Amino acid sequence: MSFDKLNIIEPIQKALQVEGYTIPTPIQKQAIPIILEGKDVLGSAQTGTGKTAAFAIPIIQLLTQNPDYNRGRRKIRTLIVTPTRELAIQIGDSFAAYGKFTDLRYVVIYGGVKQLQQTNALQKGMDVLVATPGRLLDLMDQGYINLQNIQFFVLDEADRMLDMGFIHDVRKIIAVLPARRQSLFFSATMPAEVIELARKILNKPTKVAIAPVAITTEAIRQSVYYVDKDRKKDILLHILKDPTLETALIFTRTKYGADKLAKFLNTNGIKSDAIHGNKTQTARQHALANFKRRASRVLVASDIASRGLDIDELSCVVNFDIPDIPDTYVHRIGRTGRAGATGRAISFCAPEEKVNLKRIEKLLPSPIPVVRDHPFLANLRISGVKASAEKEQSSLKPRTSIFRKRWAD
Ligand code: AMP
Repeated sequence: MSFDKLNIIEPIQKALQVEGYTIPTPIQKQAIPIILEGKDVLGSAQTGTGKTAAFAIPIIQLLTQNPDYNRGRRKIRTLIVTPTRELAIQIGDSFAAYGKFTDLRYVVIYGGVKQLQQTNALQKGMDVLVATPGRLLDLMDQGYINLQNIQFFVLDEADRMLDMGFIHDVRKIIAVLPARRQSLFFSATMPAEVIELARKILNKPTKVAIAPVAITTEAIRQSVYYVDKDRKKDILLHILKDPTLETALIFTRTKYGADKLAKFLNTNGIKSDAIHGNKTQTARQHALANFKRRASRVLVASDIASRGLDIDELSCVVNFDIPDIPDTYVHRIGRTGRAGATGRAISFCAPEEKVNLKRIEKLLPSPIPVVRDHPFLANLRISGVKASAEKEQSSLKPRTSIFRKRWAD
């Protein structure tokens, strides 16, 4: 099925060609016709499924087909609320790309930076506003934003929004939206709180559900290395010797751990940056830009900072630490193997993390394949001994059995 079957107007079709999109993703196939019919949508889909285009394309189309004939300054007709700055910027970029051949205007606002540039942009008027909740409320309170003309409201990554403590902000925002509007609600997971919020926002929604990328796709080759915590760095260096791993996004449990690992990799000749909540917005953008243009090979990230990162052709995701929340694993590995590309997801699991790994595997169709014949694995129990290659080989057997025993339970 191609995009013309979805009755998409010519200027958008042209922009999609420029983007190199030929076939709509499953969520686009499902959601675009429903949104074009004017219905509310409750979408269960995560980043990586093509969800942004699934809502951006029909909104651009409907806005273009019903232009704002109002002379004077444009009024905000679409509001998209998303939890992080990175997501807000990416959504803004998507609107700009898909709406390239229309005359719509977009503004993106988010916290952590001075407001002047954003308020200047707001004062020029726009059709679409993409915002994070805190900055949106702040600028509403200051009188820069009027939401009375909203026709389309999108709440993106609702579960993350709640996790990050934005529920009160979201409630305040929906309270000032006009009752007559079309609302689209997206969430990767649907816990009770999220469903409750959806009920407040949506009017007779049509449900659209797409299974997490990681579970449906064959595009991600997963593997796990059982390794002691203090040997994870060594295995990582070894793995990164593989030149086919052109880029790697590495997740660590803590911000401190992210910084430390990036430093270690740089010392060992692998150009790396860290991205997490303690970094300034400018530093985060800089690190991301470096990684995207391949000036750095590795980006070490914390979960919140990385949510929604859209990196084309990412070769590999490394779970340096096994996440405590099983869903997080799925979100993390969904950064690779996107849009027709293949990718790898490598996890390092220390003995104390095995319980978390088991919980993750319950979400997956089959257990993650274990790499058992890695040289570092055989070397796991020798601390402080520099074994020669020969010694490593000869020691493979007994150490593997110790290892197996330890992991057998
Ligand atoms: P999203 O789920 O919105 O974060 O999108 C994931 C990635 O897929 C982004 O890099 C999009 O540019 C890309 N993408 C979205 N739709 C398509 C499509 N129909 N064909 C190819 N790539 C797409």
